[in-house]
Amino acid sequence: MEKHDVIVLGAGLAGLSAARDLAAAGVDVIVVEARARAGGRVEQAKTPDGRLVQLGGEIIGSFHTAYKELVGELGLTLVPTFVASNGETSWSLADGSFLGDDLPWMSSGDRRVYDAIEKQFSALAATVNPDDPWSHPDAERLDALSIAEWVRGEGGSPSVLRALELSAKALADSSIERSSLLAYLRKESAAGADGFYNYDAWENERVLEGSATVALRMADDLGERIRYSSPVEQVRIDRRKSTVRLATGEILGATAIVSALPVGPLRDVRVEGVSDARMASLHAQRNALTVKVAAVYPDSFWENDGRNGTSYMEQTLLGGTWAQSDGVLSGLLPPSSLAEYFATPLDRRQAELTDELITVVGKQADEYSQFYLRNWATDRWTQGYATGWRPGDVMAVGPLHGSHEPPFYVCGSDQWVCGYMEGAVRTGRAAAAAVLQGSEGKQSR
Ligand SMILES: Cc1cc2nc3c(=O)[nH]c(=O)nc-3n(C[C@H](O)[C@H](O)[C@H](O)COP(=O)(O)OP(=O)(O)OC[C@H]3O[C@@H](n4cnc5c(N)ncnc54)[C@H](O)[C@@H]3O)c2cc1C
Repeated sequence: MEKHDVIVLGAGLAGLSAARDLAAAGVDVIVVEARARAGGRVEQAKTPDGRLVQLGGEIIGSFHTAYKELVGELGLTLVPTFVASNGETSWSLADGSFLGDDLPWMSSGDRRVYDAIEKQFSALAATVNPDDPWSHPDAERLDALSIAEWVRGEGGSPSVLRALELSAKALADSSIERSSLLAYLRKESAAGADGFYNYDAWENERVLEGSATVALRMADDLGERIRYSSPVEQVRIDRRKSTVRLATGEILGATAIVSALPVGPLRDVRVEGVSDARMASLHAQRNALTVKVAAVYPDSFWENDGRNGTSYMEQTLLGGTWAQSDGVLSGLLPPSSLAEYFATPLDRRQAELTDELITVVGKQADEYSQFYLRNWATDRWTQGYATGWRPGDVMAVGPLHGSHEPPFYVCGSDQWVCGYMEGAVRTGRAAAAAVLQGSEGKQSR
């Protein structure tokens, strides 16, 4: 049997970050990856004119320090995103299309209520420790409440609920009627508790060379330490020698195993020798599902009409759009659209989505040179997008979230507060540090 010090499962950002640090510390580490490529939920395509188009994770924010540090170490460059661009936001609403940065339907009275509720939300978020939301004296109640129920209880009008629902849809989150308040408080507490989703905190930078290049650089450096097209089927944890069985039938041995698998695909792997409590926590987690759209144009034509490419969309399959890079428009379909999307014949999907793009960026939206539709929702090796927390899920996953049970270590964006590339890098590097210390310590979230 082939033997190593450490086997890392999955070559996404988390597994690669963990393996990179272990290899740098002189550990004999290999990574086993189901796909024929590295990167997992970061993936890029090259257009015939040489532009890189991100089909998965794309943007980071000001407090994403672990990711930024890694980007610096890899010699890559961070540049501002659409957040810094001029131009106004587009709205495709039930009552028509609008252009402007303010929520078009809001009266000044609605705005006052919105601002007051946002202030309440920030104050409440500041009471939640993102590393340990379970210790909050009101954790169970806050987790049982949906965001919408809480907003209604605070006197939120339908206008306020509409704003938050549109924002959730644009981010491809589940409806605010079906999302845990505690999970949302935890997420915004991690970002500094300064209101509802703050675009500077979450979305103000991107890697100029392409966000998937971060993963590809690490994969290049790891070279033959990565075994591609090697899905893991079974993991047996044993204090003396743990084993991993691949779909090829091959069995590999190691002293420690680092699982960097998304929570969906992990459910399909037979794991033995790990406590029932640890596995139950991992299996209780859910992912929000999405499909990503990227349309490529000769240039950012929407800027000619004073648009910035950002849009919020109400009665559409798409939740919203943003400008990915010069001439490239990104969009996400939220979980609530996916039943209709998958029911749409393959040959009509692109045309229908293009019609939706026309409502927010104008007629030229149908003059794309490439149109990418990347279906992550039902991708066997992803089964998701970013962590989705239904009411009750934070308590169901519990304080074991993100914890290790040596020699079984866990990392991945799903093991951070809410997903994101930051979560992958942060937990990947923390898992490597824990392996090196032989520690059971909780990861830094
Ligand atoms: C459409 C989309 C847009 C996004 N946008 C952003 C964004 O703008 N900003 C941001 O920060 N984040 C974004 N994210 C989220 C971010 O991309 C992910 O959270 C992050 O890349 C996940 O990294 P990971 O290593 O934890 O998991 P993954 O990247 O999913 O890696 C897991 C790896 O495990 C492999 N695997 C699965 N099962 C097995 C098995 N049985 N055996 C072996 N290998 C297996 C997979 O193939 C994969 O390579 C987005 C994600 C998607 C899908």
